[in-house]
Amino acid sequence: MIRCLAAAEQTERAEMMKSAVFYGKHDLRIEEHEMPPVGPKDVLIRVKACGVCGTDVHIYEGDKGAAEVTPPAILGHEFAGVVEAVGAEVAACRVGDRVCIDPNCYCGTCGPCRNGVAHYCEHMIGYGTTVNGGFAEYCAVNERQVYRLGERTSFEQGAMAEPAACCLHGIDMCKVQPGSQVVVIGGGMIGLLMLQLARLMGAAKVALLEPVEEKRQVAVKLGADVCINPLQTDVKAELKKAGFTWVNTVIECVGRPSTIQQAIDIAGNKAVVMMFGLTKPEETIAVKPFEIFKKELELKASYINPYTQKRALDLIDSGRLDVSSMIYGTYGLEKLEEILSSPKARAKGKYIICP
Ligand SMILES: [Zn+2]
Ligand SMILES: [Zn+2]
Repeated sequence: MIRCLAAAEQTERAEMMKSAVFYGKHDLRIEEHEMPPVGPKDVLIRVKACGVCGTDVHIYEGDKGAAEVTPPAILGHEFAGVVEAVGAEVAACRVGDRVCIDPNCYCGTCGPCRNGVAHYCEHMIGYGTTVNGGFAEYCAVNERQVYRLGERTSFEQGAMAEPAACCLHGIDMCKVQPGSQVVVIGGGMIGLLMLQLARLMGAAKVALLEPVEEKRQVAVKLGADVCINPLQTDVKAELKKAGFTWVNTVIECVGRPSTIQQAIDIAGNKAVVMMFGLTKPEETIAVKPFEIFKKELELKASYINPYTQKRALDLIDSGRLDVSSMIYGTYGLEKLEEILSSPKARAKGKYIICP
């Protein structure tokens, strides 16, 4: 496989780098780590920005099923930086290039890879999950995963390309058409991206359900036609008042059984219900099949980001997709554990680490 080939021709590097190493549940240590080996097809990236993702939190909390992580490991899969060195066979980029990565590396030869569903690759490598990632000064990745940033894209924005790419894969399945009425549940980073993508798909009306006032304000700035506090009002009545006569798509971005049930309830006839929010693996929901039948609903979910990284980057660079308004702040590696362990801190917005 790719890593084995790469490892065969390692460049010797004596230096050490600062990194955040995950040793197990609630055990993250800032320490000096060996520089990653750079194989012939590898690109060594000096990390400038690495997003803190819900997946990192799940791993830190020791949740089984979140990702296949074998400690000790360097997490962080949403990152951008500068090319510091390239292996002898690398053609895709040069030293000094500003780049970001798609962390999910597919083998290209297994059944799923050869049938157009590479995200179900039987030999998938995940930078920041199955192999070391971007919560360190440097990370070496296969050149196939490297994407050059546009001139107007900052490192922080480049780090947001991966979550944006995941949202693009999701919205592609939502059947949003010009004139559609779309309801997004949850105004976190994902919900705020989804509401913009729904508009870009041509939705005539987009509503956001979100209890936190500050998030609703950001959503209005990003183009939400109506923002509803679902804890204080009758959501369906509010939607009706706002002219939502036939909700075509509901995008759930919270990941709780109650909000998924709410999505099914709000959905109009023939609607798509996208369950985008990640639930815990053992979670179940109560569904009335009659309701699905009566409305001919399509219940869907979306898994990672196959073939969407480039489109996400182009959208970001064009200025049409705002990935900056949901960033709360950029901090050093030392702050990472505090962010991972504090839901209250994370509720403020997206955190970026600059190692
Ligand atoms: Zn992520
Ligand atoms: Zn494969």
